[in-house]
Amino acid sequence: MFEKAPRVREIAEKLIDDHHPHLRDAKDLIEYYIRDDGGVNWAGKCKKCSAFERFLTGKMFHIFVIAPAFEGWPMEKLRALIDHELCHIQRKTGIVVIDPTTGEITRKEWASKDDPENWLIREHDVEEFSDVIYRHGLWDTGIEKFAEAVRDAEYQMTLFDVQHEKELREAK
Ligand SMILES: [Zn+2]
Repeated sequence: MFEKAPRVREIAEKLIDDHHPHLRDAKDLIEYYIRDDGGVNWAGKCKKCSAFERFLTGKMFHIFVIAPAFEGWPMEKLRALIDHELCHIQRKTGIVVIDPTTGEITRKEWASKDDPENWLIREHDVEEFSDVIYRHGLWDTGIEKFAEAVRDAEYQMTLFDVQHEKELREAK
């Protein structure tokens, strides 16, 4: 089952304020969910929404944290996991203004947040994102057993499952 997670959002938005400037004006485009363990072999997941999921939710990305991690992990480890998932979100650059005499960038804007084409899933640069190691240390080994990112096409659990589980819950 899935539940929206305001507490995860709270932690994530603090991380965005501190470390993810490209997401500061796009906080409303990310939804956060707690997922019951259900035997999955990851602790966190970041997914770019498919066109249909965008249609249903108005979001660009969904971030999932499994309940045992959310409930059982120390706060610093949970923060590292959420930071890791946020690192998967990449945004294209928009307008860049370069001073013709100095060659310096005088203005740089992020590409429009409303166009899905401007958003990408960023792959890991090392086994762990170097910025997450910098901020949280080597917070976990074999991290990809616990955290992964998926593009929409590779993802088996769609919003159909979410809706289906919600209906099942309500029917009980
Ligand atoms: Zn990852």
